[in-house]
Amino acid sequence: MSIASTWPTPDDERRLLASLETGLFIGGHWRASSDSSTLAVEDPSTGKVLLRISSATPADGMAALDAAVTAQPGWAATAPRERSEILRRAFEAVTARADDFALLMTLEMGKPLAESRGEVAYGAEFLRWFSEEAARISGRFAIAPDGKTRLLVMKRPVGPSLFITPWNFPLAMATRKIAPAIAAGCTMVLKPAALTPLTSLLFAQVLTEAGLPAGVLNVIQTEKAGAVTGPIIRDSRLRKLSFTGSTPVGKRLIADAAEQVLRVSMELGGNAPLLVFDDADLDRAVDGAMLAKLRNGGEACTAANRILVHDSIAAEFSTRLVERMRAHTLARGTDPASKIGPLVDQATRDKVHELVTSAIADGATLALGGAAVDAPGYFYEPTVLTDVPASARILREEIFGPVAPIVTFSTEEEAIRLANDTEYGLVAYAFTKDLNRGLRLAEELDVGMFGLNTGIVSNPAAPFGGVKQSGMGREGGFEGIEEYLETRYVGIADPYA
Ligand code: NAP
Repeated sequence: MSIASTWPTPDDERRLLASLETGLFIGGHWRASSDSSTLAVEDPSTGKVLLRISSATPADGMAALDAAVTAQPGWAATAPRERSEILRRAFEAVTARADDFALLMTLEMGKPLAESRGEVAYGAEFLRWFSEEAARISGRFAIAPDGKTRLLVMKRPVGPSLFITPWNFPLAMATRKIAPAIAAGCTMVLKPAALTPLTSLLFAQVLTEAGLPAGVLNVIQTEKAGAVTGPIIRDSRLRKLSFTGSTPVGKRLIADAAEQVLRVSMELGGNAPLLVFDDADLDRAVDGAMLAKLRNGGEACTAANRILVHDSIAAEFSTRLVERMRAHTLARGTDPASKIGPLVDQATRDKVHELVTSAIADGATLALGGAAVDAPGYFYEPTVLTDVPASARILREEIFGPVAPIVTFSTEEEAIRLANDTEYGLVAYAFTKDLNRGLRLAEELDVGMFGLNTGIVSNPAAPFGGVKQSGMGREGGFEGIEEYLETRYVGIADPYA
């Protein structure tokens, strides 16, 4: 698809949608659901249906698990280099089709095309990173301390895995799981979010073209998430569950997974603090806050949910943030001027507005925005709230929208106490020129990830994940492949005895 200045036209959009497979992908074949049911995928910038696709039943879910279980032994026995080359070809193919992936994400999820392109690059990098890691899986050999036994420690693929992903990053949340699983030699069933399943369908097509054998990846989009995934999780042939989504759903899935003592990885919700100290470079801090707040329209687990600013610079910082957020153009993501697209659906927009209203009732001052846009789609104005009291509900819950609540503090100790005052622990950001303070914060903030003088931490070469109720396990980095490997130890008798 060429990038003429007019791209994408409505015809480009129609052609891309018409080129998609619309079935379930099970055992290497595209098929309709067993009861012919379908689900409608909407464009959140218009509220209109983009496409109807098959919606899996519980029987389809079991067929997908059967396919993954059947494919597992053969796939585990493939040469690491073969798995590596498939991932490398998939990286090249996703990169070559970046415009198609970006347009599809913009259509089904709403984010501006420039952001979708950023996600394609980020999502594709997991394929490249784990193509490199596939050939580096190793164990160790040792002579036991008594000099007699020999110890061999090897790594084996965990086995058939179930992946459940959210709607906010339709490509990257899938590749963060699928790429290390392929590298490790696991087969899998993917259940993408019902709001944004189209990207997964295109990705399954691309992986097949890259040479992924039948049954290694199975995709079962559905409107009945619990009914379809429940029996899979309870089946003793499943060996691993990796979930990205909200903390309440994650907790339920951990409880379900306990029945079979399944290995679980949980990437759950966040409530990131962003701290701005009085010695910060203010330009850099405002840039960082814009990135941490407005990436993905605020619909990110890593979004700065609480902006904590030293009281001596709070007025200046707030004024600058308001100016920058006011200048952000709200428009359908395909519009080249768009800096923020719509929220994903009406329920998300209602929740954002409810949190803003409750913050004002709690005593916050509305400095910008504060309303839904009166037009088709689910647009919400970029919003800044100042003087938000530390007890306000908006500081306890994920906002998931373009709303920046600003809270003031007067000492480093108070900033750390406020930052840690949450049951979440995914990420924190801080802006300061004092390196010693930066290192103290890195040790004191109770999080899985910390951005020092930067508003973005996501990187395929780094371990992404949280502590406390933000989850367990890591995706990306050297750690990412460990989630899909079991350690097996072999004791060997003294060869001289
Ligand atoms: P969600 O409502 O928890 O849904 C996530 C996935 O779980 C979807 O595929 C959903 O299916 C499925 N699901 C819902 N109920 C289920 C059940 N009872 N059994 C099995 N599956 C079920 O979350 P979301 O609204 O899509 O995503 C936003 C959340 O994800 C936020 O909390 C955000 O912080 C978190 N997130 C975390 C990370 C991270 O890396 N830590 C990254 C991105 C997002 P349906 O689509 O059918 O509902």
